[in-house]
Amino acid sequence: MPRLLLVEDDLALARGITALLSDQGYAVDHLASGQAALEFEPLEPYALVVLDIGLPDMSGFDVLRALRRRGSRTPILVLTARDTIQDKVTGLDLGADDYLLKPFDPAELEARVRALIRRRHGDPNPTLNLGTMSLDRSSGLVRIGDRSIELRKRELAVLLVLTENVGRVVPKERLSAEVFAYDDLVNPNALELYVARLRKKLGPDGPHIRTHRGVGYQIDAL
Ligand code: CA
Repeated sequence: MPRLLLVEDDLALARGITALLSDQGYAVDHLASGQAALEFEPLEPYALVVLDIGLPDMSGFDVLRALRRRGSRTPILVLTARDTIQDKVTGLDLGADDYLLKPFDPAELEARVRALIRRRHGDPNPTLNLGTMSLDRSSGLVRIGDRSIELRKRELAVLLVLTENVGRVVPKERLSAEVFAYDDLVNPNALELYVARLRKKLGPDGPHIRTHRGVGYQIDAL
């Protein structure tokens, strides 16, 4: 069971996040101050740190900086209430792996956590087979029958999220959140564009991506 460290001083929010992530099969340790986080983080091999920026004793940015300076490579997901591009840039510059703005949708937090853990720790079985398609989730190589397909980063991101949810509708908002995690300004039509390109590359013999108009997209088990 992956172990996560949550650093958040808002106790109601911390309880909610802990319950949510425990339900997803993670063991969550919660701390409410930056100092405690700095003392605790090296003691456990955490799969991920979820770090609030507005902490009572120091800024989450200071915690982030200190952890990276001492060589911690644990993935860090930053939570912040401040919606400024400067904060986002600062967080990513200091070595945060991803960024989530409060208030957030629980499904989005789950998706980000899952993606970060997968990205860093790899998947024990990286190859996913879906009908004629085989997808190596660690290298991003896609084959359909004996045809190998080159996907661009965002097309691959769309395919990864859809194949993690085979047979289920993935809401557009969630797909956008994963595909455009680091973009500030996203054209609302951009997601449709990437889905269209992906469909074209997968071709008629590949898996079929269904559009649920106004809701989201779905890939089906074959
Ligand atoms: Ca706070």
